[in-house]
Amino acid sequence: MKINSKLPEIGTNIFTVMSKLAVDYKAINLGQGFPDFNTDERLQALVTKAMADGFNQYPFMTGVQGLREVISEKVKTIYGHQYDIDTEITITSGATEAIMSIMLASVGTGDEVIVLEPSYDCYLPAIKLSGASTVSVPMDPPTELRKTFQVDWDRVRANITSKTKMLIVNFPHNPTGAVIHEHDLDELEKIVQNTNILILSDEVYEHIIFDGVKHLSLATRPSLVERTFVVSSFGKTTHTTGWKVGYVCAPKEMTSELRKVHQFVVFTVPSNLQHALAAYTKDASTYLNLPAFYQKKRDQLTAGLQETRFKVLPSPGTFFLLADYSEIAKISEADFAIWLTKEYGVTVIPVSAFYKDSNAEASNHNLVRFCFAKKEETLANAIEKLKKV
Ligand code: GLN
Repeated sequence: MKINSKLPEIGTNIFTVMSKLAVDYKAINLGQGFPDFNTDERLQALVTKAMADGFNQYPFMTGVQGLREVISEKVKTIYGHQYDIDTEITITSGATEAIMSIMLASVGTGDEVIVLEPSYDCYLPAIKLSGASTVSVPMDPPTELRKTFQVDWDRVRANITSKTKMLIVNFPHNPTGAVIHEHDLDELEKIVQNTNILILSDEVYEHIIFDGVKHLSLATRPSLVERTFVVSSFGKTTHTTGWKVGYVCAPKEMTSELRKVHQFVVFTVPSNLQHALAAYTKDASTYLNLPAFYQKKRDQLTAGLQETRFKVLPSPGTFFLLADYSEIAKISEADFAIWLTKEYGVTVIPVSAFYKDSNAEASNHNLVRFCFAKKEETLANAIEKLKKV
C-alpha cells in the first residue's frame, strides 16, 4: 500500500550510501564517521560484568543513576554548571534519538528552527516531523585568508522572526571541524536575550578538540543554560558508535517535556551498556586523553594529504577534516566522492550533502570530508592511494 510520505524528499542518508559504495568497490572507507579500531578492553569487560551482575532488565526511563551521576560530575568539573541528576539529565539512544525527541517535544507547526549550514543530516527530518519549518543560515565558507568555516552571527540575527522557536548549534562542528569561541558565545547570548528562543547544542565531539584549545560548552554560560538542551554521545567518546548511548542535559522544565517523548520513543537504553559506561567514565582520563589520541591521527592524515593534489583545511576539532580537490577535478562534490571511490579506492563524503539543497552551486565548494578515526595503517594505505590521484 502506498503511504502518503511525511518525508518525501528524504532518501537513504549519504553515510549509508557511501559506506555501501566503499564495500562494493573494496575502497578504504574514510567516509562515514566511525572508528575502525576496537573500543578499550576494559570497557568491553565492564559490559560483560554488568550482564553477569544481572543488569539485563529495564533500567530507569531517565537512565541509570550512576551514569547520570558521572555526567553531572563531569559537566560540573569541566564546564562549571551543575545539572540535577534526577531532573536535568536524561540518557538517550544516542544523540540521534535525543535530537528527535527534543524536536518532537519542543517545536511544532508554525514554529521556525534556525539551522546553520552545512549541518548534520538528522536535524532537518526531525524538524519536519515535528511540524516546524527549517530556516537554513549558511556559514561563511573558507577563504584564502581564513581557512575554516565560520558563523556570521549578523546573518543569524537577520533570520530571526517572531516565529523563531529554536536555534541549533553544533560545535565542534560536523562536517567542517570548526570550534566555538568566546566571542561566538557572546553573540549567541546577545541574539537570544529577551526572547523565548530555545537552543539545541549538539556537542557530541566535545572531547575531540585540538591544539590545546578547550571546548566551550553552552553550559559554561548561565544565560544560555536556562534555554539550552546540551546533547552529547558516548559513541564518539568511547569509540562505540554502534552502542547508541547519548544524553541530554537541560533545565528541569525542558527535561520534563523531553522525557515525555523519550519514554514513548525508546523508553530506555540498554542497561549493561549504561552500567559499563558509568564505571568507565568515572576515570576522567578516558575522555581527557582523546585530544592527544586524535590529534596524532589528524596530523598523520594532514601530512599525508599535503603530499597529494588535495589542499587540506585545518581541523580544530572532531574526527573529520576537509580537503579541497579543485586542482584535481572540476565536478560536483557528490560526483567527486563517487569517482574517488571507484577509481582510486578511497571513500569520502561530499560536504554538499550537509546542505538542504545539495545540488545548488552555493552548496558546492569543491570540498570533501575525510574521517580520520582510523588505524595508523588504514590512514597510511589511504594516503598511498591518494598520492596517485
Ligand atoms: N555521524 C556520522 C558521520 O557524520 C554518521 C552517522 C550515521 O551514519 N548516521 O559520518
